[in-house]
Amino acid sequence: MTIAEQEQTYTFKAEIKQLLDILIHSLYKEPEIFVRELISNASDALSRVQFEMLTNHEVVDPDAELGIWLTVQKPEEGEEGDKWLIIKDTGIGMTADDLRQNLGTIAHSGAREFLANLRQNGNKSEIADVIGQFGVGFYSVFMAAEEVRVVSRSAHAAESAAVWISDGSENYRIEPADKSDRGTEIHIKLRSEAAEFADEWKLRQIIKKHSDFVAFPIYIGDQEQRANQQQSIWRTQPSEVTAEASKSFYQQMTLDFEEPLTSIHFSSDAPLNLRALLFIPAKREKTMFARRTEPGVQLYCKNVLIQEYCTDLLPRWLSFVDGVVDSEDLPLNVSRETVQNSRLMRQLGKTIRKRVVREINKLAEDKEKFGAFWAQYGRFFKEGVATDHESREEILPLLRFYSSKSDGQLTTLDEYVSRMPESQTDIYYVVGDDQRSIANSPHLDPFKGRGIEVLYFVDAFDAFMAPALMEYKEKPFRNIDDAALELPETAADSETPAEETPAVPEEQFTSLAERVKEILGERVAEVRPSKLLKDSPVRLVSPENSPNTAASRLQRYIDQDYAVPVKILELNPRHGLIANLANLHTADPASPLVALLVEQLLDSALVQEGLHPNPADMLPRIQALMEQVASR
Ligand code: ADP
Ligand code: MG
Repeated sequence: MTIAEQEQTYTFKAEIKQLLDILIHSLYKEPEIFVRELISNASDALSRVQFEMLTNHEVVDPDAELGIWLTVQKPEEGEEGDKWLIIKDTGIGMTADDLRQNLGTIAHSGAREFLANLRQNGNKSEIADVIGQFGVGFYSVFMAAEEVRVVSRSAHAAESAAVWISDGSENYRIEPADKSDRGTEIHIKLRSEAAEFADEWKLRQIIKKHSDFVAFPIYIGDQEQRANQQQSIWRTQPSEVTAEASKSFYQQMTLDFEEPLTSIHFSSDAPLNLRALLFIPAKREKTMFARRTEPGVQLYCKNVLIQEYCTDLLPRWLSFVDGVVDSEDLPLNVSRETVQNSRLMRQLGKTIRKRVVREINKLAEDKEKFGAFWAQYGRFFKEGVATDHESREEILPLLRFYSSKSDGQLTTLDEYVSRMPESQTDIYYVVGDDQRSIANSPHLDPFKGRGIEVLYFVDAFDAFMAPALMEYKEKPFRNIDDAALELPETAADSETPAEETPAVPEEQFTSLAERVKEILGERVAEVRPSKLLKDSPVRLVSPENSPNTAASRLQRYIDQDYAVPVKILELNPRHGLIANLANLHTADPASPLVALLVEQLLDSALVQEGLHPNPADMLPRIQALMEQVASR
């Protein structure tokens, strides 16, 4: 005998018991969210049957209106008795097995995370505060219910109806039921504290607040007027949708309680039929109980939900965009596979992408807003440059960097190029850990002298992106740690007076350089004088054909067996420190102090480049040096 044919008692899984216990025994600010959760489930069930009807014409009640009905039952005025709220839909329905599986275990990811969090900090009262805000799915009904009966009949003709009964205690029952029409009815016997949910006016308010944009009509009592929006908001003329309405739609759709950074609503009829209402969320990270947990937009065809998370329309570097895309041109008998590959999808995707990029450019007019945007999503674009070569041209103008001349502000490549002196042909960048330390990079010495701007690559993703940058407006990108770097002559350069410290004599310098190489051995490729350094004693440059510093830094982040790259060490013969070192060396070619100082010079240079595996290793040496200085 199957469970559909007899009564069966089951015990809830331990985690559900725990959840039920909290829902029943704590006090919540907003118990009304259970209505939202049940309507959301009804809407999901309607979407599913609607989608199924596109391909399968054998469903039960094919002509039934797709809708959601709320009715209340209460005793006559002055009489005692129970109050019931009934929420009915004509959705996909559930068999007895479905009931056991879907309502006996936790499906909703929000509820699962909620419990995980509870186990971690065990603070019920704190969690009780947030539960009202977030979706915990079906079980939230027990915030208001003394008893719940879910009567359902699957859309599949061969199945019979069943009812699931629970009072929120340990066990629940499943019995055969008498229901001939398709869909689900949830009968809720209201607890006395929750009697307000038997009030139609109250229900109407809740629907306006939480479920106004549900794509199917919601009816209350015997009223023929639907209680939610008549027309889906994305199919309404953009000019007729207020900012308030689209924000409210966003929040009901995502349960993100922050306002989106921007919303993009547009429609076209030719060459493509397209209605889209898209959003850029304020934060990249979704909150713990966010409703939409995966990337992708909702794809509709004539108001029918085809795909909940469609990632084929927008490239990965725009995957943070959320919202709805609806096109009547999509074939109604679409399967999910054909959606992915069709030419139409590519056309739709291109149109949407163009529009989103335009909107992001528009956002850039407001520097503050764009700063917030870039802090959240800059990395997506950098990843895009690195991985999506076809989109490079489109992404590069969107990139923002700090630079030696941007004064703490973000700058665009266009702005950089417009500031380039005529003799400058390349776009220069320097890689480092953060803005402050990079500003002292020895590589910048010659650029400061010549007044040439250098972009600061200070984000881990900059290093990831650097090799793929290639060029912008025919100007190649150049890492300034490049050994072969030749700098353009500039006006600023010819004006600088030659009042530098006299250089260490050549012979003395050569002897020092040999000693330095001897001390450092294989850790440096070469030791040589620098032509470019001004204020810094040393710098490390990449030998030709070696992976550049950007790539090495990246390795430091991702690679456990990171090996410090072997670089050329350049010494500045005009720097006081190098001059003193040369004198020490001349006085005592075997000086142990010279060895210590040289080791420290290399380590300092590695730190400066963001290449040192563990700077704390330097401390004993620094102490030894301090001891020697102090004893003088
Ligand atoms: P979620 O909606 O996130 O999956 P819920 O706890 O809200 O989690 O619902 C659990 C499951 O119960 C749903 O995934 C669905 O399979 C089933 N379900 C709930 N309500 C209905 C309904 N009205 N019609 C059909 N199935 C439903
Ligand atoms: Mg749900």
